[in-house]
Amino acid sequence: LTKDTFANIAATDADLQAFIRLHEEEALAQARDIDEKGDFSNPLAGIPMAMKDNIATNGLETTGASHILEGFKPVYDAAVTTKLNEAGAVVVGKANMDEFAMGGSTETSYYKKTKNAWDYTKVPGGSSGGSAAAVAAGQVPYALGSDTGGSIRQPAAFNGIVGMKPTYGRVSRFGLFAMASSLDQIGPLTRTVKDNALVMNAIAGFDKRDSTSAELEVPDFTAKLGESIKGMKIAVPEEYFQEGIATEVATQVKAAIAQLEAMGAQVDQVSLPHTQYGVAAYYVLMASEASSNLQRYDGIRYGFRSPEAKSLEEVYKDTRTDGFGDEVKRRIMLGTYSLSAGAYDAFFKKAAQVRTLIIDDFNKVFENYDLIVGPTTPTQPYGIGEEIDDPKAMYLGDVLTIPVNLAGLPGLSINAGFNGGMPIGLQMIGKPFDEATIYQAAYAFE
Ligand code: GLN
Repeated sequence: LTKDTFANIAATDADLQAFIRLHEEEALAQARDIDEKGDFSNPLAGIPMAMKDNIATNGLETTGASHILEGFKPVYDAAVTTKLNEAGAVVVGKANMDEFAMGGSTETSYYKKTKNAWDYTKVPGGSSGGSAAAVAAGQVPYALGSDTGGSIRQPAAFNGIVGMKPTYGRVSRFGLFAMASSLDQIGPLTRTVKDNALVMNAIAGFDKRDSTSAELEVPDFTAKLGESIKGMKIAVPEEYFQEGIATEVATQVKAAIAQLEAMGAQVDQVSLPHTQYGVAAYYVLMASEASSNLQRYDGIRYGFRSPEAKSLEEVYKDTRTDGFGDEVKRRIMLGTYSLSAGAYDAFFKKAAQVRTLIIDDFNKVFENYDLIVGPTTPTQPYGIGEEIDDPKAMYLGDVLTIPVNLAGLPGLSINAGFNGGMPIGLQMIGKPFDEATIYQAAYAFE
């Protein structure tokens, strides 16, 4: 299976460009090892997978798709890598992504531009665009991604597959290159709901090395698959269908919601009144956290160092000037400004207050409902090169996914259907740590 996987990737990835690098030798050794042990009790045993390039793999180059980490080989495994190794998973390589997960189209990668699996002239979404395209194109049955403001759900929607951002604290962030630590979560991208739940079974759970990891028992995420959704209370936020949402998206998602209703769910319209402030709050909070997290890339500890630097100051300055791309620099500047003494009250503090209002919006709805359902993205995939020079337009593409990260909730995207040959995503948002109910509804819909 592993050999066939590499043969297929060799035949398809020259066009798709989903992988930054493959670890063929190591993967084949891993596969042989699993064969020899002969223990296939774990459903992931011997199954090939793709790792997003911001998840540490011991001894194997991991760069966050950034020039500044070129050549960096972590000396430890991320918590999820360890868990997948224990399950017998075979890591075939590192999936392309936006640099340090900053972007929504995988075009900010230093290395290459990944294509949408359904149309090579369109973006695959991002930042986990390589992970999503590899799964949708059939290169691997599953991949891991990370989601800070939509980076699992949006590329899943753009490629017509299933992507889950778990509840904040459900999956350990140990070994995930930190972007915005209060928002980041790792999750699976798969072609089916059941596969997704199986991968979650393997990667979820408490880890003392991540201080925000939740000390909760991990349920069997497949337990409620196949259970009827009759009587399930589903809320549909009116703000998720307002201006900026493409007609084709609204139409397809409304048809999907009607399908849930036909299966016996009770569907009501609700309001999440602070939705429109989510993107603004996110770009202050995320950039502030990212600017702080990215200070560690100084040209001394990891990866690339500018060869021109002649003094210590130049090592920092030249390395960061050459090592970071434009989008990363934009966020470092925005973040350091928001955190500065003169701007803190007006920006960081205000954004944190808005975050609380968004959390309250969700809490109110979840007093009476089991699930919130709407579109994942306002539009369908756009052309490569079309939005990359207009950061604000790109940022607005995350208006429906960002609030979920700000509130730390679990959210999944599943294909709602196609328009013009391109997929449209249906987003399902659950109560904290209630991924199982999301899977139940998604499985019924699928
Ligand atoms: N597109 C969003 C951003 O650029 C989300 C990225 C993410 O979830 N990592 O910040």
